[in-house]
Amino acid sequence: MRPSRLPVLAAIAFLTPVLGARSPSLTGFHPDRVAEQYNLESRFDALIDVDEIGEWIERMSARPHPVGSAYGLDNAHFMVDKLSEWGWEARLEEYRVLFPTPKLRRLELLGPEGFVADLSEGPVENDPTSEQSAEQLPGYNAYSIDGDVTGELVFVNYGVPDDYLELEKRGISVEGKIVIARYYGSWRGIKPKVAAEKGAIGCLMYTDPEDDGYFRGDTYPAGGFRPSQGIQRGSVADMPLFPGDPLTPGVGATADAVRLELDEAPTLTKIPVLPISWADAQPLLEALSGPVAPEGWRGALPLTYHLGPGPARVRLQVEFNWDLATAYNVVAELPGAERGDQWIVRGNHHDAWVNGATDPVSGMAATLAEAQALGALYRQGWRPRRTVIYAGWDAEEPGLLGSTEWVEHHASELGEHAAVYINSDSNSRGFLNVGGSHTLEQFVNEVARDVTDPQTGVSLQRRLRAAMILSDEPEDRERAGGGGDLPISALGSGSDYSPFLQHLGIASLNVGFGGEGDYGQYHSIYDSFAHYERFMDPGFHYGAALARVGGRMVLRLANADRLPFEFSALASTVAGYVDEVEELTETVREETADENRWLEEGLYALAWDPTDDWIAPELEEPVPFLNFAPLRNALGRLQTSVEVFERSRDDARRLPVDVAADLDRALYASERALTRDHGLPRRPWYVHHIYAPGFYTGYGVKTLPGIREAIEQRSWDEAEQQVDIAAEVLAAAAEAVDRAAALAASE
Ligand SMILES: [Zn+2]
Repeated sequence: MRPSRLPVLAAIAFLTPVLGARSPSLTGFHPDRVAEQYNLESRFDALIDVDEIGEWIERMSARPHPVGSAYGLDNAHFMVDKLSEWGWEARLEEYRVLFPTPKLRRLELLGPEGFVADLSEGPVENDPTSEQSAEQLPGYNAYSIDGDVTGELVFVNYGVPDDYLELEKRGISVEGKIVIARYYGSWRGIKPKVAAEKGAIGCLMYTDPEDDGYFRGDTYPAGGFRPSQGIQRGSVADMPLFPGDPLTPGVGATADAVRLELDEAPTLTKIPVLPISWADAQPLLEALSGPVAPEGWRGALPLTYHLGPGPARVRLQVEFNWDLATAYNVVAELPGAERGDQWIVRGNHHDAWVNGATDPVSGMAATLAEAQALGALYRQGWRPRRTVIYAGWDAEEPGLLGSTEWVEHHASELGEHAAVYINSDSNSRGFLNVGGSHTLEQFVNEVARDVTDPQTGVSLQRRLRAAMILSDEPEDRERAGGGGDLPISALGSGSDYSPFLQHLGIASLNVGFGGEGDYGQYHSIYDSFAHYERFMDPGFHYGAALARVGGRMVLRLANADRLPFEFSALASTVAGYVDEVEELTETVREETADENRWLEEGLYALAWDPTDDWIAPELEEPVPFLNFAPLRNALGRLQTSVEVFERSRDDARRLPVDVAADLDRALYASERALTRDHGLPRRPWYVHHIYAPGFYTGYGVKTLPGIREAIEQRSWDEAEQQVDIAAEVLAAAAEAVDRAAALAASE
């Protein structure tokens, strides 16, 4: 379920690690054990078989395999059999989840001219799986409600809140209208949510070739970009409220779970929604008149983009089978020999909207390659110190259902035992891209330092540093040019790390490569093996690189003498977030004051074309000064604790086994400390107060989300309350770091 345009950052491994790139130290390892660990990793690398990764991608994407499909279950059995063969204790864990599938999809332009949308994709040459129409779910948005609506059409650009401000300025309301939004600019579920809040009765989403199509490169099958008939499927559940099964929020969707009635389920859309291709969108957009769309709203179709409303009138009809499906999670374990009650969890989803060679099978196959190599090491006598759990999640595409239900079902055990979760999803040629908990930033850098990029032969870290030094972003240039650790990004949502990190406070990482593929197949029938091997990762070398990164992370986390958490990156990163929210407040204050002054001076009336009939904004309440002192004080406290920890920890010291185990628990408890049971305002499922998906951005992260979103919504009292909560959270993190420091220093 990854967004299709991957951040351009990141990188790989090919043969054995470059000796000269090895550092004399590995965080968390006693100096005497570093050589042994590197030796184990070399053996692990040699066990990664690039051809087998390609074979598994072909095998698992051979037929459509969404949750509830015969081939999805077949893939789950395939993985359990393989894992068992490799020495893992492997099983299926089943949940019963709401999974609507289309019964009726119809879209008709009633006038001025008639047109009935085709709504189909269809086979293309040299892509055999594109012909499997009997098993393909057609283009639809999961968790759209049923509906039959008729109304005038309005073009709303990306359909995010700012776009509606532009419409309002022009006196255009979507009340009682059907909106047509283009994909991108936000997570797709935001578009129908905002449209419904603004009074629209239906929502169409189309892919504009400017964002995803011929404007970007040659279209499939000549190139890899989206063809005219390509449709982006996808969930539109209100995931920023909570992900997972819409009928069982907060609890595992076991067969006997108490379920909400369909009409009580808060994450279903409020209006009917349908995704369409640009071939189907073009006649609708051509039938719009009204003002010409602002320049930034215009896409790459050969037409003048108008806003409407009308005279285009459309009828949208959608009906779904509101059935429960069985989600089959694959779960496999290698028991820890010494601290078996500490779990290192690694996962990728296995369900796809259609064939899903890229999303998710490219990541799943790399994950399997890791499991195969770890199993082989285990059979050769390697024993992980901590327990290792590998998972293949089902039902990720409709909204992270398999992972979320598993996490909710096992919440108390995971809360106690899970030390780290490592996720991957779609993978392709390009740069290493890692997001996650900043307590693991140094750890991630050590892994990136020790794995080689397949295309350039230098370390992943070196390639990434080069890209950042040449980046347009001054911050990237400065950070990378300084020579220290490269930053990891904060995680919003969009894949299975979300329940681990944001619901339970388990330190998490999301890893993958990307940025150099022709990514035009996302969530369409063209996400096929034929597309993958031509346009995403020819030779599957980046699949092998992902396995070397993911498996190396697991090997280090499983074997370390103490878990490799470090806190200086957390403290400095959060300090940066505090600067940002303070600056954001200042910006809003200044902008509000300027706007109010311009209004009072009547500048809008003078500057605007009088024939445009625009509506000036209303006077806003002035922005009060907020008190960020509690947050600054808590941050100071955290920084002090981090310094004490850095002086106390010494990987050369040998701690008694029970103290070392307590130290590990104190280290991973630091992430739990960043959560509060009551969660974020209006969305208690999200308990992490440093990282969350944005309420109005979806996948996009909001850091210090309680404070930041209150400021964005101009809820000043709430902003001050959230400053206090964030301060409490940082103080709790400081206490966890203090406990770790005391244990690290004990004799
Ligand atoms: Zn995915």
